[in-house]
Amino acid sequence: MNLCLATGNKNKEAEFAKIISFNKSDIKLLSAKEFGGVPAVDETGETFKENAYLKSIALKIKLPNYVWSLADDSGLSVEILDGKPGVKSARYAGENSSDSENIQKLLYDLKKITSEKVNAKFVCWLCLIGPDDRIRYFMGKCEGSIVSQPSGTNGFGYDPIFQPNGYLKTFSELGSEIKNKISHRANAFTNFMNWHKNY
Ligand code: IMP
Repeated sequence: MNLCLATGNKNKEAEFAKIISFNKSDIKLLSAKEFGGVPAVDETGETFKENAYLKSIALKIKLPNYVWSLADDSGLSVEILDGKPGVKSARYAGENSSDSENIQKLLYDLKKITSEKVNAKFVCWLCLIGPDDRIRYFMGKCEGSIVSQPSGTNGFGYDPIFQPNGYLKTFSELGSEIKNKISHRANAFTNFMNWHKNY
């Protein structure tokens, strides 16, 4: 399978390449640069699934027919906030907001409601479009809670305030080796790999 990822994010590419080699798979990863780069897409979907589709189809149109397109969309969903920030995770505090502004807004919103740890999950949807023009989806999640103070220096986004279930540290404190084994993205990629093994 020749596969092109609809992401310019080097961390995501590296994470996926590791999962492929760990699974001793014959998937050949091609860079979107070979086909004019990752197209800019307005993430107008109301769900992660819809946004993953928008990114995957925008890339697929640019690829030769034998190349499969895979796109991901992910974010944080907080139970007590009815799933927010959700698809707005990257811009929760406003357009072009920084990770720390988004974290501050989230902690502020939560403080108004409770001083307890709250349940949350990271969710990742993958959308795969192949030469047969079929659309396939894979989902992964990582359940945990939001802590009241940011902790740790690794990672990005909401990592400093997200504590995965079964650990007493945030994703930022745990670091990429552990995170990449249990994260929403790792779980979604693994679901994709398991499908691919039987394809
Ligand atoms: P995207 O899937 O890269 O568009 O992610 C959207 C946003 O969700 C990011 O900007 C982060 O705010 C948040 N997010 C997604 N995955 C993670 C993660 O693994 N750690 C922390 N934040 C994440």
